[in-house]
Amino acid sequence: METPLTPMEFARRARRLYAGREAVVDGDLRLTYAQLFDRCDRWSTALQSFGVAQGDRVAYIAPNTHAQLESFYAVPQIGAVVVPINYRLIPDDFAYIINHSGARVVCVHSDYLDAVDGIRDQLPEVSHFVALEGAKEGWLDYEAMLADSSPAFTPAEIAETDLISINYTSGTTARPKGVMITHRNATMNILNTLAHQHLGPEDRYLWTLPMFHANGWTFVWIVTARGMAHICLRKVEPRTIFQLIHEERVTMLCAAPTVMIAIASAPADLRATAPRGVRLFTAGAPPAAATIERIEGELGWDITHVYGLTETSPLITICEPLPEHANLPLSARAVIKARQGVEMLFSGEMRVVDPEGDEVPADGLTLGELTVRGNVVMKGYYNDPESTARAIRNGWFYTGDAGVVHPDGYIEIRDRFKDVIISGGENISSVEVEGVLLRHPDIQEAAVVGMPHERWGEAPHAFVVLKPGATANEAEIKQFVRDHLAHFKTPQWVSFVDDLPKTATGKIQKYVLRGGSGITKQ
Ligand code: AMP
Repeated sequence: METPLTPMEFARRARRLYAGREAVVDGDLRLTYAQLFDRCDRWSTALQSFGVAQGDRVAYIAPNTHAQLESFYAVPQIGAVVVPINYRLIPDDFAYIINHSGARVVCVHSDYLDAVDGIRDQLPEVSHFVALEGAKEGWLDYEAMLADSSPAFTPAEIAETDLISINYTSGTTARPKGVMITHRNATMNILNTLAHQHLGPEDRYLWTLPMFHANGWTFVWIVTARGMAHICLRKVEPRTIFQLIHEERVTMLCAAPTVMIAIASAPADLRATAPRGVRLFTAGAPPAAATIERIEGELGWDITHVYGLTETSPLITICEPLPEHANLPLSARAVIKARQGVEMLFSGEMRVVDPEGDEVPADGLTLGELTVRGNVVMKGYYNDPESTARAIRNGWFYTGDAGVVHPDGYIEIRDRFKDVIISGGENISSVEVEGVLLRHPDIQEAAVVGMPHERWGEAPHAFVVLKPGATANEAEIKQFVRDHLAHFKTPQWVSFVDDLPKTATGKIQKYVLRGGSGITKQ
């Protein structure tokens, strides 16, 4: 017997088993699973009354609210496709994505109603504009429509290869691409995480990671599947994070390294209230061993490093802890944890390959491109067969990430290919130099890019953000790197900046640093 692999199966089970348990905390609002699903069902009916049919796209622009969470059930259970848009983009990007996805219903949080009103004339195909909160003239009121709706929607026959979401990736160079995730992709990724991480109804999950980003690394469904509580967080702010962890007895969260840095460097009085033993999944960019060491050492939290891309639903590797790691000193363990690790149980096969497609030796030195094939790889880029064909070749998905394989089989990402600095014929990993810079007590954030150099062809240029009140100068920073790394890896230039240019999802835009764009060398 075969039934389709779909996260909606986990929802069906949760309805039955966890109806009375707390499902959502969003500010003053608390919902049980029965209440959450009742709201989802009513919204499904409303969407069907708008004419949303199987395969149609429904776009959302919202921070981590209960309404955004509801979209991940109300939309797919009628066979439609959720398009959660990164709310940090500019209105022009909203218009591009909404039009590219072909969504005719757009659901928007109150903070973005004005932005969308400003682009209405660019959205001729949109028939329904829904305000999730704070409805005003020209907007349908989500809560009023839910109250008027019946929960008796018409369920869809879902095939596992149907789309559940289209997630637009915030590329660093071009227009975003729509990653098509199927019900099967999402299910395999959920199982992936659950196979490696024990979670259950005793757990409470804090929404530090945006739900729009690769469906919150599928935690929009994982938390429900395990009967946990979703603790919504509308704005990533250290004080609120620590307050919710304390008051809502949070046991797990996911965070990109930049959020980890904010947590690690929060004021001491905040950190003092934090319970020990909180589990934190990190991915999105390479975390520095120094940050891992600080959070594990000072807060007593347990960090798991995972890696993936929107295109792989997203998680594909995990830095799996081994019993022998447990006896290592904290700093040595943090160095291991900073590796991306090994393929996950359900992510399929991973290979690190040279340009000919042959696997690189497991010597911890030879750089290759990470490739993967398996059930988590996207169906393709929406309406973009050319980009799809570039990314998936000969049955393998090419990640564009450059890494090495250590003798123990653990993969470590050293860079994106375009970020490798080749200086005097030697490869330098900017990530490695950044890792050292972040160990400097005065440095808050750092990014290293290759810049043209008369003698060496290219040389590293470090852009650093100092901690408030810190005074380290260029010579001290260069000396610090020289003390820790081969001399040729020492930045030739150090620029002190107030902020690093980042994409809306927090990735450092190295191409901006390379291009100078107003940042002058010291
Ligand atoms: P996105 O699709 O926006 O999630 O971005 C995926 C990209 O983020 C990957 O191709 C990597 O370059 C980077 N990335 C994600 N996780 C990690 C990680 N654990 N370590 C290093 N880079 C990562």
